[in-house]
Amino acid sequence: MSTAGHARQFAPPAPAAEGRRNLGGRDLGELAAEMAAIGAPAFRARQLWHWIYHRGATDFAVMTTLAKDFRARLAETFVIERPAIAESRHSLDGTHKWLLRFPDGQEVETVHIPEEDRGTLCVSSQVGCTLTCRFCHTGTQRLVRNLSAAEIVGQLMLARDALGEWPSPNDGRLISNIVLMGMGEPLYNYDSVAKALKIVMDGEGIAISRRRITLSTAGVVPMIKRCGEELNVNLAISLHAVNDELRDQIVPINRKYPIAELLDACRNYPGLSNARRITFEYVMLKDVNDSPAEARELVRLLRGIPAKVNLIPFNPWPGAPFDCSTDTAIKRFSDIVFAGGYASPVRTPRGQDIMAACGQLKSASIKKRRSEMTAAAV
Ligand code: SAH
Repeated sequence: MSTAGHARQFAPPAPAAEGRRNLGGRDLGELAAEMAAIGAPAFRARQLWHWIYHRGATDFAVMTTLAKDFRARLAETFVIERPAIAESRHSLDGTHKWLLRFPDGQEVETVHIPEEDRGTLCVSSQVGCTLTCRFCHTGTQRLVRNLSAAEIVGQLMLARDALGEWPSPNDGRLISNIVLMGMGEPLYNYDSVAKALKIVMDGEGIAISRRRITLSTAGVVPMIKRCGEELNVNLAISLHAVNDELRDQIVPINRKYPIAELLDACRNYPGLSNARRITFEYVMLKDVNDSPAEARELVRLLRGIPAKVNLIPFNPWPGAPFDCSTDTAIKRFSDIVFAGGYASPVRTPRGQDIMAACGQLKSASIKKRRSEMTAAAV
């Protein structure tokens, strides 16, 4: 049967309400296949695209460019779903964090960080993470699965619903930028991330340009090249150490792809210039990686790479084996990197009152659900 061909070519449709298939977060090829499956002409897919990704419609009834009986038919067969909100928290500083739950019960976090001249959405790419970076809370969570492209796009759609940002505005957006710095390693889920970003970048839909999207990786070297060639979004590298001995310990993927190979991949990233730099993230761990000598070594390592350095004060979590560097140590480190020719802003912690640090809200939710289950069993 021809549907078998579709199944090979396209991801299986997500299970949706009352057996209706979900069109939310699907790409144009998938929408076209769904239209073909109900015998509708291919151009319907483009019309749906406009309603789903430019207007943010979740109800076929509002799709006034489609005939009324066709809308009714769509509603019988399909839904346009968003991820469920397990928890939603607002920080006093304007940061908003959602814990989202997918139909299989798995949860991820999405955070909106408003700033004066822009707004950034921090998106997750996996449930949990396999990397086990020593300072990262997500690495302590055991369950891991990749998110589908629809689940990645779904985070953005839901945030835009919550912020009332439909139809897609041209200027002054509340969500103007996207960072793939939530839970997971995006380059270990490259296919879904690429598919999701292509949907997000499409000029006739959500239309967020690749220049406003930053993918953060701990350094999956072979995928950096592919990401540069196919997506060419901004790149951020979670460096955190300037020698392999230490990086092997705190960012264990370094044992597979050591610093020299990682920096080579960075040097060859397409489209770099002084106006388009790679961001190197460096988490400040007290007496671990924060000495002046390490700051000088960082400057030496980055020579020849259009780069900026983002110094991140370590965000502590219960049981973490590190402390955050002192303000003095951070300032000294930043001054040396700056004098070496690289911008070295210190990231201001945001949303601390709502556990916005990576993985924290999810862990709290798991604990809560466990204690509810225990209570129910007693
Ligand atoms: N896996 C990707 C993206 C997720 S982590 C990566 O490694 O880049 C996003 C950023 O948050 C990384 O730079 C990570 O090192 C940093 N991070 C994780 N836990 C942190 C913590 N407790 N305090 C400060 N930064 C942290």
